[in-house]
Amino acid sequence: MTHRSNITPPSMDIVVPCYNEKEAFPHCLEVLGSVLCNLMSAKKVSPQSKIIFVDDGSKDNTWLQIKEACSKNGFVSGVKLSRNRGHQNALIAGLSESKSDVVISIDADLQDDVHCIESMLEEYNKGSDIVYGVRNDRSTDSVFKRTTAKMFYSLMENMGVNQVSNHADYRLMSRNAVDCLLNFKEQNMYIRGIVPLLGFTSSKVYYSRDERVAGESKYPIKKMISLAVEGITSLTITPLRMISALGFITCIISIITAIYAIIEKINGSTVEGWTSVMISIIFFGGVQLLCLGVIGEYVGKIYIETKGRPRFFVEEKQGGNDEVK
Ligand code: UDP
Ligand code: MG
Repeated sequence: MTHRSNITPPSMDIVVPCYNEKEAFPHCLEVLGSVLCNLMSAKKVSPQSKIIFVDDGSKDNTWLQIKEACSKNGFVSGVKLSRNRGHQNALIAGLSESKSDVVISIDADLQDDVHCIESMLEEYNKGSDIVYGVRNDRSTDSVFKRTTAKMFYSLMENMGVNQVSNHADYRLMSRNAVDCLLNFKEQNMYIRGIVPLLGFTSSKVYYSRDERVAGESKYPIKKMISLAVEGITSLTITPLRMISALGFITCIISIITAIYAIIEKINGSTVEGWTSVMISIIFFGGVQLLCLGVIGEYVGKIYIETKGRPRFFVEEKQGGNDEVK
């Protein structure tokens, strides 16, 4: 691991995706603003460092608050997406906007400990290109959230997906790592599954997760399930392999059943058997439908990817040098 020279502090952008965060925004701005200003005055990051708020098509006044923050603070800039594109796309929009040496991504509700930013920078200075924020305590999350998260991580692990457990999207990335991440052109990117694929020297910092400062979770069960499905189908073809295995087993079972049926016929004890016929129809019908469903998931992905649509459109920008209306 090579140490980075401490003579010139790196420029650092903090990317914050915001969706209907009107309650959490003021506190978020205040806390992140003071963290950034402290780091600037301690000369740990350069004065060009910024906070980039990405408004992910909020329906409340989040964008108005971001614009106001931009006009009052030189270190704040904002990007407004034309409609709600989801947490991961909002993050990509913020990462694409940043030109700094180091980018931190963090949620607007500040459930993740902002004091880790300094430790992440230390790890960066020691030579890491990616520093993962890892929660070592989820006691403030609901039992439901904890259980489903645990199930999801172990399912992913069993399917051979390499991802950092208990790490969401709170991380530091160097310019180089961000540029590489932005080379992944797939739609609906599951960023925390892609980042470990980048390689580079990485390290972890640990923290305990707080409760949301204000407002409600913007991840209802529907969005959680779609993120999980996205994570699995975009990173592994294990479900397809499982279908092949299932297909193989059912073939063997059907051959055995056929032999049994023929023997019964030769013995002259047929006619009855309606039950077994019905069971086989239902069984194979079910298996086929299940398989079709999983295949459909991948076919759907191919369909979406071949269209190669842009992931987002920036409607308006505030702050920074390249202001666009
Ligand atoms: N978010 C977003 N777009 C969405 C949903 C969420 O930009 O469609 C943002 C949200 O504003 C927050 C972050 O993603 O900054 C994480 O969301 P949240 O804290 O609600 O998720 P949870 O912590 O409950 O999993
Ligand atoms: Mg949260």
